[in-house]
Amino acid sequence: MSITIFSHAACALHRVTEVHPECPERLGAVNDQLIRSGLEYVITQKDATQASKNDLYRAHDVAYVNDVYAKAPTDPEDHVWLDPDTVMTAGTLEAALFAAGSGINGIDEIMQSANQRAFCAVRPPGHHATRSAAMGFCVFNNIAVAALYALHEYDIQRIAIIDFDVHHGNGTEDIFLQDDRVLFCSSFQHPLYPNTGTDTISPHVINIPMPAGCEGFEWQAAVRERWFPAIDAFAPDLILVSAGFDGHLEDDMAQFNLREDDYFWIGKELKKLADVHCQGRMLAMLEGGYDFSSLGRSVVAFLKGIL
Ligand SMILES: [Zn+2]
Repeated sequence: MSITIFSHAACALHRVTEVHPECPERLGAVNDQLIRSGLEYVITQKDATQASKNDLYRAHDVAYVNDVYAKAPTDPEDHVWLDPDTVMTAGTLEAALFAAGSGINGIDEIMQSANQRAFCAVRPPGHHATRSAAMGFCVFNNIAVAALYALHEYDIQRIAIIDFDVHHGNGTEDIFLQDDRVLFCSSFQHPLYPNTGTDTISPHVINIPMPAGCEGFEWQAAVRERWFPAIDAFAPDLILVSAGFDGHLEDDMAQFNLREDDYFWIGKELKKLADVHCQGRMLAMLEGGYDFSSLGRSVVAFLKGIL
């Protein structure tokens, strides 16, 4: 049993400024910890390929996708603001296409190969991007593109998307709110950007807002109580994970106090659910995580959990 990790050098081409937290060095930190982890015998590394426009159109409005292509700068000095937090520079479109494409690669991998689990170490992240707009460092909604590809291309009827980034996955919720083929579960600090998800009413959206200072045992208890019975009842054919690690104690982007053990735990529990319902098939994609050291350690802990 092995985990396939998809990434691409082009994901480092997107750089906003020298001091922006969503920076290419994040992927270097993940890679460094993977090398140190001793997991090399259970990891298969593959290059991602780019998403096509048709792949993106399943999750996003045609006009939005075409607008992103049209605005993509070619001059290395140019900065194009898609929203107050989301900037395109010369390498952004290419990076975003590889990030979105990696999820499609991951779906093909877990559906067709002997490896039932895949992880995409890519950027920019995706879960804030709505059907019609970029938001919060996210250009295309990578996990939504992957889910809709799986529903379209394979005999998959139901998908659970689990989002444990410290920020609410508002974009993913926006895309699937009217789509009962997807159970969307998001835990997040509240109040905190983007300050959504507390008044959503849907039988297939399970949001867990938690206050600043939330400890791992409190988060685990809420997840165990709210998500796991719902996932069991939904009986998904696939589990997809928006894996953000900015809830770590050492990550200053928010004030959750999660540790590597918590990421190991959620990986292990989701693997159990995937074994029961999905023939073990599970795809996780990197979202947030801005403290290099805790990001790398947490990714490794999560991967050990899903092994
Ligand atoms: Zn986040």
